[in-house]
Amino acid sequence: MVRSLAQWTKTLSFPARISPKTSKESVNIHQVSPTITPTLSNNSLTKNNDFGMNNNNNSSLNEVNQIYSDPESEKAIMSSVVYCIHHKEGCKWSDELRKLKGHLNTCKHDAIPCTSKCGAQIPRVLMEDHLKYTCPQRRTRCEFCNKEFTGHALENHCGNCGYEPLYCENKCGIKVQRRHLSPHKAADCSKRLIPCRYCAKEFVADTLAAHHLKCGRVPIQCPNRCDASVLAREELETHIKEECTISVHSCSFKEAGCRFKGSKKTMEKHLEESCQQHLSLMCGVVSKQQHQINSLKSALSRLSLNYSGTLIWKISDFAGKMGEAKNKEGMELVSPPFYTSQYGYKLQASLFPNGNGAGEDSHISVYIKILPGEYDALLRWPFAHSVSFTLFDQSSCPEKACNIVESFIPDPTWKNFQRPSLEPDSLGFGFPKFVSHEMLKKRHFMKDDTMFIRVKVDPSKIVAV
Ligand SMILES: [Zn+2]
Ligand SMILES: [Zn+2]
Ligand SMILES: [Zn+2]
Ligand SMILES: [Zn+2]
Ligand SMILES: [Zn+2]
Ligand SMILES: [Zn+2]
Ligand SMILES: [Zn+2]
Repeated sequence: MVRSLAQWTKTLSFPARISPKTSKESVNIHQVSPTITPTLSNNSLTKNNDFGMNNNNNSSLNEVNQIYSDPESEKAIMSSVVYCIHHKEGCKWSDELRKLKGHLNTCKHDAIPCTSKCGAQIPRVLMEDHLKYTCPQRRTRCEFCNKEFTGHALENHCGNCGYEPLYCENKCGIKVQRRHLSPHKAADCSKRLIPCRYCAKEFVADTLAAHHLKCGRVPIQCPNRCDASVLAREELETHIKEECTISVHSCSFKEAGCRFKGSKKTMEKHLEESCQQHLSLMCGVVSKQQHQINSLKSALSRLSLNYSGTLIWKISDFAGKMGEAKNKEGMELVSPPFYTSQYGYKLQASLFPNGNGAGEDSHISVYIKILPGEYDALLRWPFAHSVSFTLFDQSSCPEKACNIVESFIPDPTWKNFQRPSLEPDSLGFGFPKFVSHEMLKKRHFMKDDTMFIRVKVDPSKIVAV
């Protein structure tokens, strides 16, 4: 059976490490100090020492002989098969106990003191790396300044070496040695901030030239070569407009037609002397604008014209209009004009609140007038469409509403239906007794002092309803 040395370590030590005193006093292996464990802390066990252990082999064997006085049992114990004491760390070695010491000299898992005497315990397997890269006692050179340091000193030097190339913190993209970094940032870096010498605002160095091209404080000369001293660029416009004694201006009545041009001084004189001329120029402008306003107005009314053949005429403030009509004989309200179709007859409704003719003082009277329209030359005359007037009952319940409707078919002999002249008749055709004043108060014909009358022209109906 193969036993792990862990089972041995409490009682077993290696012959080489048992002091002669102890060994003399004790022949019983169970009395060997349990604190002496099979680690190779003994300095004699180093590579540099050329396996000094082996040099002691003879004395060790003597000691063993003294301990194990019985050569038979000694032989038996030394022939026991054990694992390496570094079995748990991964050493696969296993052999007779007598060969363990030899193995430990080469066991890669066995820690020995650093050969450069830095004090660290280093597994043999890592010693080479340790001596090369991590031992504080190693001799090494700074890769940047090439000076020699111990490993420990290099750690302090690292991060401070003046020769280490670093990227400039301003992100200008340039690498400079640490010792040159400050001068670079102060004097050469294209990304350093420097103040514009004209406006004193700070700019990144490589944008300063572009800024100078438009900096408002850059000094320039007046292009008119006037006697003004040097100006800042941003002041030039005001200078030329308001101060420059040489720059030439157009008269402020230029738009009205004055062609005078002159310096600031002569302009003052011109304005004084040309009041009459400027005034008549302005009169011309005003009358021209009046014409424009009129044509815009008619264009606007053409755009807002109703071409549907149906007019819903809203008459608000009716009580006031009725009061006015009672005091003023023949007071007539007229609707906006409307067309029977896009190229049809142009019509207009009129209403007498206090009645007209047979309905005077008792009814409201409604009429339709034919106005001279744009397309009269192309239309059939006399006008023959049926026309209906509807006074709406504005009841909130539409089923209960009861409108008043009157309609007529034009009499072709009636002169009102002939093609109108440019001065239309003041009276149209309609119903002098459309709705009595009494009736107007009933139902909901008036609501919020407002009435709605629909005037509908229907070319298809012979009998209008
Ligand atoms: Zn081993
Ligand atoms: Zn070391
Ligand atoms: Zn260095
Ligand atoms: Zn830089
Ligand atoms: Zn500037
Ligand atoms: Zn000037
Ligand atoms: Zn003028």
